[in-house]
Amino acid sequence: MTVIQNNLTEKNKQYASTFTKGDLALPPAKKYAVVTCMDARIDPAAAYGIDLGDAHVIRNAGGNAKDALRSLIISEQLLGTKEILLIKHTGCGMLTFKNEDAHTVVQKQLGDAAVKELGGLDFQPFPDLEQGVRDDVAFLNNSAAIPDDVAVSGWVYEVETGKVRAVN
Ligand SMILES: [Zn+2]
Repeated sequence: MTVIQNNLTEKNKQYASTFTKGDLALPPAKKYAVVTCMDARIDPAAAYGIDLGDAHVIRNAGGNAKDALRSLIISEQLLGTKEILLIKHTGCGMLTFKNEDAHTVVQKQLGDAAVKELGGLDFQPFPDLEQGVRDDVAFLNNSAAIPDDVAVSGWVYEVETGKVRAVN
């Protein structure tokens, strides 16, 4: 077993030993979904006030709305959520490179087969944090797959302070 696998099984043993919430319903109790970054410095449950069973938390590189769309449709259409919080963050890795940089790295490290498989994939980096939030909120508001009565709001989480702020 790797150190990481061992951490999983050991820490989970402790967690499960006091676990009492095995009777929660499948649909999120507070009927909302959060889209946020996979960044390791973000603890969505603690930082965003999400209790177990309350909300869907969809994480990917950058807290990207397009990437999250598949999950959001399932969240809303099959599991009844009615609101989306889109939360990007300061110091995001997605602010630090351009599409062509990512493709160069893929070519160099993974080779032609990987390049072909990705077929010109848009890694969706964004150079400006607030504008990135606005663009993703606009994408969701304009998407025919997101009903008009779903409330979408945009936020920035500061990894330096732990604070969230609204982006208008
Ligand atoms: Zn990030």
